[in-house]
Amino acid sequence: MSEGGHAACVAAREPEPPRHRSACRRRLVVQVTPTGWSAHCVEHGMLIS
Ligand SMILES: [Zn+2]
Repeated sequence: MSEGGHAACVAAREPEPPRHRSACRRRLVVQVTPTGWSAHCVEHGMLIS
């Protein structure tokens, strides 16, 4: 078994996380997680996943 290979496979299915939020053009803080990613706006604290 190769769990590392499987993790890479799962990550490859996820779309690219956004770097900026189009709604307010602020920078997003992106965190990559084992199941994908999450991002929040530094200005509004809005969580996007
Ligand atoms: Zn915002």
